[in-house]
Amino acid sequence: MNKQLEMLIYKLINEQGLSLEEYEFLIKNRTIESARLLAEAAVKARKKIYGNTVFIRGLIEISNICKNDCFYCGIRRSNYSCQRYRLTCEEILECCKEGYGLGFRTFVLQDGEDSYYSDERLLPLLKDIKSLYPDCAVTLSLGERSRESYQKLFDAGADRYLLRHETAEEEHYLKLHPENMSYVNRMRCLKDLKEIGYQTGCGFMVGSPYQTNRQLAMDLKFIETFRPQMCGIGPFIPHRDTPFGNQPAGAVELTCYLLSVIRLIKPNILLPATTALGTLEETGREKGILSGANVVMPNLSPVSVREKYRLYDNKVSDGAESAQCVEELKKRMEAIGYTIITDRGDINKY
Ligand code: SAM
Repeated sequence: MNKQLEMLIYKLINEQGLSLEEYEFLIKNRTIESARLLAEAAVKARKKIYGNTVFIRGLIEISNICKNDCFYCGIRRSNYSCQRYRLTCEEILECCKEGYGLGFRTFVLQDGEDSYYSDERLLPLLKDIKSLYPDCAVTLSLGERSRESYQKLFDAGADRYLLRHETAEEEHYLKLHPENMSYVNRMRCLKDLKEIGYQTGCGFMVGSPYQTNRQLAMDLKFIETFRPQMCGIGPFIPHRDTPFGNQPAGAVELTCYLLSVIRLIKPNILLPATTALGTLEETGREKGILSGANVVMPNLSPVSVREKYRLYDNKVSDGAESAQCVEELKKRMEAIGYTIITDRGDINKY
């Protein structure tokens, strides 16, 4: 293997960080051999902390109504062919009840950016979930809100918050979002979330339009310096009714490569093998886990709305992607040597 690549991998393992130029080199010059070496080291690092366990999260897509118009997203405001829905608090509690019975101990509440879920509505809901299921964690993924709102939701019991930064380069951010959305505000949100005390997750799409290796290197540098507790990365997949409908999808191979690098940057990070990975390839989830991921998030939304939360074409929500089929997921994980456990699955601070 290229000596320089090999040296960079050892540096990453030992120092948990590289310079921007080095990250870029690692991406640009990747080979099958460097991917193998990185995955091996990433799996070793993750096993040292989490053993063979895989954490599961029950993903409840509470609404696909969105005020934003992100160019890549199938539930963007301007997509008039998207059939909109919103779950009531009672329906969300029903999902939690079913999920608890299936062994889920984390519920992830994700929406578009739907102002229906005001603090006044969310605070009693959070209190209900936490009092009914005190052994469960709640993760929110409700987009950009004020610091005050994040604080109130945290005080009401929310444990974690997922907000992908989407790209760590402002110019690229502007190419993916309309003018009224701001990179600076997104970063403000992430900073607030972390300061408030949430287990905070950032993340980005791999292969999003206009993305360069330099920008991916900047994403890695951002993760290295921001030190999130979670990181969601998955391939970009086009949705036919968006401005990026004709753009090519990102690659499973590069996504897995970056999963390994991120595991080595922060060995205890909670790293999901995302639905997008499982959508592009039947064994995408397994490939993610074998590259260093340690979380899967099956869909716990009511079956009647699953088809409507379509961020990209052909998004899977059945089989191992469905919370009801957690037994199938268990078998698939066991087949590659991993065990799904019933646990909140918090970050191991070690
Ligand atoms: N509204 C919340 C937010 O903005 O954080 C959560 C929902 S948002 C739809 C969740 C994530 O889906 C986004 O952060 C984005 O990275 C991802 N996503 C959207 N469209 C996608 C696409 N076409 N391909 C892959 N991922 C996509």
